[in-house]
Amino acid sequence: MTPGSVETTEKHDTETAVPKKLSKGIVLGPDGKPCRTCNDVASLFAIAGKKPTTPSSTSTSSTAPTFPVDCPPDVEALGRSSWTLLHSITATYPTTPTPQLQSETKTFLSTFGKLYPCWVCAEDFQGWMSTNTPRVSSRSEFGTWMCEAHNAVNLKLGKQTFDCGRWEERWRTGWKDGRCDF
Ligand SMILES: Cc1cc2nc3c(=O)[nH]c(=O)nc-3n(C[C@H](O)[C@H](O)[C@H](O)COP(=O)(O)OP(=O)(O)OC[C@H]3O[C@@H](n4cnc5c(N)ncnc54)[C@H](O)[C@@H]3O)c2cc1C
Repeated sequence: MTPGSVETTEKHDTETAVPKKLSKGIVLGPDGKPCRTCNDVASLFAIAGKKPTTPSSTSTSSTAPTFPVDCPPDVEALGRSSWTLLHSITATYPTTPTPQLQSETKTFLSTFGKLYPCWVCAEDFQGWMSTNTPRVSSRSEFGTWMCEAHNAVNLKLGKQTFDCGRWEERWRTGWKDGRCDF
């Protein structure tokens, strides 16, 4: 497939330009080139006409193509790392945060939404936050809100949603069967 034949979604840097949005295809960055942090490895290799590297056959996990671990992230690696950070922040958030911390947390989320390196993801996340105002009055509220935010993305991507009643087991205490204990 040549770059000219792919459907694209393009980010323009100028304030007046309206990004070209199509439902499917490769997402371009402001430089007009495929955006690494907005596409998955398989798509990036496909447009480059390269054969993707798959994890070694001894690996028991995914067989999806990946970049070597010391390469810049694609949209999936970036997402996994980002969710790990975001949920871990909620896991260590105080049960009764000060008003100042609550305010700083809202500012952080707003800034995070603007700086997230996948621009299409960032736009959708900002849109979701505009109708789902961050709930940061306690660890429980914040952790549940973050789980709902993640589920909104899961739904958009056609993935299974997560039981938000179990977010603390996943991200703070470890599962009740003890497999995460040390
Ligand atoms: C703010 C944000 C917006 C994103 N937007 C997009 C987008 O528009 N398009 C796109 O292609 N990718 C997007 N991503 C990336 C996407 O969400 C995934 O991270 C990526 O597809 C890799 O998915 P994964 O299946 O490996 O697991 P991830 O979705 O990264 O989840 C990692 C782990 O979190 C746990 N988990 C799953 N759901 C929840 C939940 N609701 N609450 C708590 N824990 C949970 C599971 O144990 C899972 O293994 C976004 C990421 C972020 C942080």
